[in-house]
Amino acid sequence: MSVAPPTDPVLLSRYLHEAHGLSGALHRLSGVNENYLVVGEKGERHVLKVTPEDVSDEILDLEREATDCVARGYLVNLEVPQLLPPRDRVTTELRARLFRFIEGTPLGELPEIDDQLLDDFGERLGRISAALLHCDHPEARRTHRWDLARADELRSLIPLVAPERRELLEEIFHQHAALVLSRWGELPRSLIHGDLNDENLLVTDGRLSGLLDFGDVLEAPTICELAIALAYLMQHVDEPLVAALRVVESHDGQRPLELPEAEVLFPLIRTRLATSVVMAAEKRAEGSEHVGHFISEEPAWRLLEELSIFDPARIHEALTEVLEHPARMRPVVGDDLLVARRRHVGASLSVSYREPLRVVRGRGQYLIDDAGRPHLDLVNNVCHVGHCHPRVVEAGQRQMAQLNTNTRYLYDGLSAYAERLCSLLPEPLDTCFLVCSGSEANELALRLARTHVGAKDVLVADCAYHGHTSTLIEHSPYKFLGPGGSRWPEPHVHLVPVPDGYRGPHRGHDLATGQAYGDEVGRVLDEIDRPVAGFLIESLLSCGGQVVPPPGYLERAFQHVREAGGLCIVDEVQVGFARMGETFWGFELQDVVPDIVVMGKPIGNGHPMAAVVTTREIADSFDNGMEFFSTFGGNPVSCAIGMAVLDVIESEGLQEHARELGAHFLEGLRELKERHRLIGDVRGVGLFLGVQLEREGDDGPEPAPQEAAELIERVRERAILLSTDGPKHDVLKIKPPMVLNRHDVDMVLRVMDEELGAMGGS
Ligand code: PMP
Repeated sequence: MSVAPPTDPVLLSRYLHEAHGLSGALHRLSGVNENYLVVGEKGERHVLKVTPEDVSDEILDLEREATDCVARGYLVNLEVPQLLPPRDRVTTELRARLFRFIEGTPLGELPEIDDQLLDDFGERLGRISAALLHCDHPEARRTHRWDLARADELRSLIPLVAPERRELLEEIFHQHAALVLSRWGELPRSLIHGDLNDENLLVTDGRLSGLLDFGDVLEAPTICELAIALAYLMQHVDEPLVAALRVVESHDGQRPLELPEAEVLFPLIRTRLATSVVMAAEKRAEGSEHVGHFISEEPAWRLLEELSIFDPARIHEALTEVLEHPARMRPVVGDDLLVARRRHVGASLSVSYREPLRVVRGRGQYLIDDAGRPHLDLVNNVCHVGHCHPRVVEAGQRQMAQLNTNTRYLYDGLSAYAERLCSLLPEPLDTCFLVCSGSEANELALRLARTHVGAKDVLVADCAYHGHTSTLIEHSPYKFLGPGGSRWPEPHVHLVPVPDGYRGPHRGHDLATGQAYGDEVGRVLDEIDRPVAGFLIESLLSCGGQVVPPPGYLERAFQHVREAGGLCIVDEVQVGFARMGETFWGFELQDVVPDIVVMGKPIGNGHPMAAVVTTREIADSFDNGMEFFSTFGGNPVSCAIGMAVLDVIESEGLQEHARELGAHFLEGLRELKERHRLIGDVRGVGLFLGVQLEREGDDGPEPAPQEAAELIERVRERAILLSTDGPKHDVLKIKPPMVLNRHDVDMVLRVMDEELGAMGGS
């Protein structure tokens, strides 16, 4: 909304005279729009509104329709702008509307707001919403910049506010995305006035008497009306939360809130306040000097800061009590959770962060802590299509209530899922086994290879992790070479170098480097004087430090392995299921077809399931008389969940999304590398990215694990969850739920930029 240049006063007077037979003094009213108070010769008052150029006749008609609806609403009893029709044949060229003046004091100018007014406010708002429920107009399905549905876009304006105030806004926009947008589809919708601010609500004798300016009317979740009104009202009371709860209670008596509405109300209030302050910051950056653009900026900041001391979860509890809904997020009180955990759970389970995060809910790309604060999850590739994706949850719930048994019976889900999963792999990978974890799947893959080939020896990358069972620890140098490990490979386990073109023995990211690493596999094979069962390798190496092998690596390595009679096993536990963007599987980036593919983590979006897909020939060798049975593997619930995950990946276009967003993320990280010496390398494909930190040592760059750990703590303070990986723990790993969006990425890049700057790494 730009400030309209004032219209020529002579033109205004001529219009008034010709269209309405009025003459009198014109006083420009404060506010961004061009509105005038017209005081006639006998003291009678009107308001002349000059129609902004970008407001069409259809929108004016929408405004009129909504105004009429409120005027007619049951027990609303508010004066609304009454349009005075112009005389016929007006020749003065001016688009303007004349309204009867409405008496009353703007809510924001009252010396005090007492309980009676709060009760009246709530009731009246409930009735306005009830009245607008019956109103519809073809133009209502519009949007404008104040539309709360678009608040996410405003995150890009955060850098325009003072640095010390950004963190609060980040938290609010996280909360909006995690708690509000995730429930958007469940919120009842209707027309709303859309701008019940403290200037648009008029009070006479301690009660609401008038409602002005229908210029922002649109169709939206009905609850936005109450949230917007409260965002302003709360700026004018001593105890904003107490006042708001009182309003909600009286509102509820007129239009009871539904549960999702109650859950989003307070987050939405904060979103609206955040909208006000970032829009004001934008106007300032554009050079505006119009007071109307900044009128609520400081009061909104004050209220935001005042509200920030309350835990969102506690606010929600108080609201729930008022509404008599059962509390949804009440945490277990008493004992410190970490102490309780240590009492009965093995201490070798680690907990992230200096101050561990206690989480109570997951939504999309967010984890929500016990104070109700969302944290952007950049590391959980398990909750692949988003934490608690409703379609996945629903599929699991439905199947659990219908049937859950094991693979010794026939049921549709197993064959349907096996067929669907195999259809995602190239020929001849057409036979699958379903199990419950990545470890179980890798165990099975090794058994398949050993049985088929009739040999035991296996090659693995020298920093690999493949699982937690005894056998897999033997095949996971990340573990046996690390703390508490045996420090020596078993005789049947052979290590090949991680194909790390940045730090490894061969540097670069070209075909020659890829082939050189592939030949390392050949070299190790040459040293083994007995048959080899196979080569177990991740297609992109996670524990190795988010390493993308150079082109030609797997092709050359597979050639050597196959010449030696071994099988090629690809571990896709971390990277599979469309995360690569360009391809559905990691190995496809290298243009190879493995003999066995191992899948886990994302396959069930958090439900414990995993799979091994191989060829019919290898599966047949395994059918040697010994039954294969996994009690839970491939059960009907897992199959239903696995199917729902595949449906979501497809229907939400997540592979293409990973490609586009991953490229944007990578580009942003590369820009950060230009500015911060602490960043040594940036790499990745799709939404599988790594940032290697290093500092200047005596002999050149050296790994910077402490700095990596510090950065992780710092961004966690700003509600972003990251983690490290790599043999030196100096690589930030980024592998978020695939529903991460561009606003998230831009915010993460900015926060990383600021925190790296604060660490003095630039
Ligand atoms: N393979 C890889 C590459 C992994 O990263 C993991 C787990 N981090 C596993 C296998 C083992 O999976 P799970 O923890 O489900 O047993």
